[in-house]
Amino acid sequence: MTKLLSVVVSVYNEELALREFYAETGKILKRLPGNWDYEFLFVNDGSRDQSLSILKEFAASDEKVKIVNFSRNFGHEAAMIAGLDYAGGDGIVCMDADLQHPPECLPEIVEKFDEGYEVISMVRTRNKTAGLVKNVTSAAFYKLINHLSDVKFEANASDFFAVSKNAAEVLRNNYREKVRFLRGYVQSIGFEKTTIEYEARPRFAGESKYSLKSLFKFSINTILCFSDLPLKLGIYSGVITALFGLIMVIYTVYTWKIYGAPNGYATIVVLISFMFSVLFVIVGIIGEYIAILFAEIKDRPVYIVKDTANIKKNRSKDTD
Ligand code: UDP
Ligand code: MG
Repeated sequence: MTKLLSVVVSVYNEELALREFYAETGKILKRLPGNWDYEFLFVNDGSRDQSLSILKEFAASDEKVKIVNFSRNFGHEAAMIAGLDYAGGDGIVCMDADLQHPPECLPEIVEKFDEGYEVISMVRTRNKTAGLVKNVTSAAFYKLINHLSDVKFEANASDFFAVSKNAAEVLRNNYREKVRFLRGYVQSIGFEKTTIEYEARPRFAGESKYSLKSLFKFSINTILCFSDLPLKLGIYSGVITALFGLIMVIYTVYTWKIYGAPNGYATIVVLISFMFSVLFVIVGIIGEYIAILFAEIKDRPVYIVKDTANIKKNRSKDTD
């Protein structure tokens, strides 16, 4: 029985890379082992350039090309979730449109599926393409998140991963959080897991859509989503400041006994500024978690689909 590989590609302003991506990846997919067929599932994430019309061109002449077109930009993560919703394959692989994720790995991926693996993480061996700052901050981020969270994140795991139909079903049904990090969930769902190493290529054309600022925000959100340690920090720092306060009280009483009068002003300034700074940090952390709860409770859609191409039935589980 032939199996179907769905290649999910998130596309945001990739007009310069799409033709090359389609040609090169298509060539490799046509040479997959005989028991595998393939489909492309392009998720157009509100591109403002010619990406959509290029995709429509592909879809018009090749029915293996499916398009899910968002009503606006919802972000890479939302695009991957839509990919999982709409992909009909027995194996689903998510990759970028800029050819940084080498399509040569696809035959190796289907081989792993054939061996019975259900979750395949693609691990970058080295990233010559990213600058020093990005590499160092990314390493620091993985160290921190692995320290804080129960979920073990594969360092250098990327948004290049493949999951079986079963694993995709789990991700699709149970991990629809509003602030999310798909890569982390992929690591945490269990199933037979394996990794494949690859060397990231330079971006084929265009520019990275992620600035350092957005990566920073992304990192903070991930820590908050996967760990409640920051919340517990409130209790720890409360205990520590209480102890500190107690020492200050003893010290103040002591100096009062010895010198007749406490050194009031200095003591108060030290105590108040210290206590308030700790307090504000704790309030800030609680605020961040409330923001996540707020987004969850509002339950706005993860993405909105404007139209699709070459997708016959509505594969999406629900409308968001
Ligand atoms: N992307 C997307 N929506 C966005 C930003 C990016 O679908 O809001 C896509 C983009 O077209 C690319 C992939 O996500 O296929 C990764 O983006 P990019 O290459 O800019 O990130 P980097 O590789 O630099 O981390
Ligand atoms: Mg890229």
